[in-house]
Amino acid sequence: MFRKVLIANRGEIALRVIRACRELRIATVAVFSEADRESLHVRLADESVCIGPAPPARSYNYVPRLISAAEVTGADAIHPGYGFLSENAHFAEVCASCGFTFIGPTPEMIRKMGDKAIARRTMADAGLPVVPGSPGVLNDFEEARALAAEIGYPVIIKAAAGGGGRGMRIAGDEKQLRLGLGIAQAEAGAAFGNHAVYVEKYIGRPRHVEFQLFGDAHGNLIHLGERECSVQRNHQKLIEESPSPFLSEAQRRKVGAMAVRGAQAIGYLNAGTMEFLFDEDGAFYFMEMNTRIQVEHPVTEEVTGLDLVKEQIRVAAGEPLSLAQDQVEWVGHAIECRINAEDHQHGFRPSPGKITYWYKPGGPGLRVDSHVYAGYTVPPHYDSMIGKLIAYGKDRPEALRRMEIALEEIIVEGIKTTIPFHQLALRDPRFQSGDIDTHFVEGLLKKEPATTG
Ligand code: ADP
Repeated sequence: MFRKVLIANRGEIALRVIRACRELRIATVAVFSEADRESLHVRLADESVCIGPAPPARSYNYVPRLISAAEVTGADAIHPGYGFLSENAHFAEVCASCGFTFIGPTPEMIRKMGDKAIARRTMADAGLPVVPGSPGVLNDFEEARALAAEIGYPVIIKAAAGGGGRGMRIAGDEKQLRLGLGIAQAEAGAAFGNHAVYVEKYIGRPRHVEFQLFGDAHGNLIHLGERECSVQRNHQKLIEESPSPFLSEAQRRKVGAMAVRGAQAIGYLNAGTMEFLFDEDGAFYFMEMNTRIQVEHPVTEEVTGLDLVKEQIRVAAGEPLSLAQDQVEWVGHAIECRINAEDHQHGFRPSPGKITYWYKPGGPGLRVDSHVYAGYTVPPHYDSMIGKLIAYGKDRPEALRRMEIALEEIIVEGIKTTIPFHQLALRDPRFQSGDIDTHFVEGLLKKEPATTG
């Protein structure tokens, strides 16, 4: 087992990893930018190293600084968390060549799944259904036009290197395709330094359902069930739950086994997530694979009773998975609300600043994963998520009720948050009945009286 782990991240996920390390009696090193000096992860880690100024390119994404911090502190492994360098194959490679274990899959696996066009092809070859579309990246408009004519409009143009919902454009006809192709390529180039795009069929009212996978170095590969992530805005998730309120036991078994087969095709190691789109008729398609721990991993932890971060560390240290597929049991229901420093009534615009008062809700079945406290200033440089509320219950109604109570109890003063949005969503009859697709948020916000100013 490792003696010391450096956490190449910030915020709640840095705390989450510190806590897992503490349970395993592993020493921790926090890294922080000048904007994060007062952060809790810095206080709670055994050691900390300042790695540069606020902009991520000069701190959390700056590989030489992270490696130097690991060297001077004598860490033997690096946990990347999510975001930042977590899906950067180059970083994983540098870690290995400098003698640090990267807590995650190998660089080859990250590279393969990181290029969505290659991922699609790999999974299609493994027998998984993929959304009809281009076999690889597109070279020119003519290719896109021919393909779109074949699969039928509407189509969606996606960045091969995409992530976080960026670099995507929907086209309803040839004219929009020509326009969208240029925009998507430019957007992808600016955001990911890679212009490559591909096209696939646009599914009208899909559900986003993803499966948690876990592989070890001893040839074991299991799935831990699914998460329903259809509550999204601009392709960004806001609420997640497990199990999905619409998947049947037979579907879970079938898609779960397929996800395992796909991951086996690349010999997958450590935690990963396979995302699927389900259409209105229940047909499902592989969409992409994320090669890291996800923000929404706690809902899976709550229903399986497994600690995914400890499992990641153990597996990276060469230990076998702590359970086999037939030992995985799902009990109860869990739901997560992402609390962002955003003003949902004004287009979810960021609301950084000082939190003057913070009351953390509690009670049976409630978990709060957050790095903030009263007096903490949310910096404007990073992701706006300030915490996650996770409610667990013996069934969905109990979990939802506990979440409603938590959203009433929690107090965050000084900044705007997405708490009122979550209250609105949870009260909605469609949400209550589990009848949701990726357009749910749009519809919900239309119903709400507009605010001006
Ligand atoms: P990212 O890596 O940027 O998160 P994804 O490929 O995971 O991109 O897609 C994000 C979201 O975009 C999905 O959850 C879904 O809501 C929407 N989406 C992606 N592909 C399609 C498609 N073919 N049809 C309809 N919606 C799609």
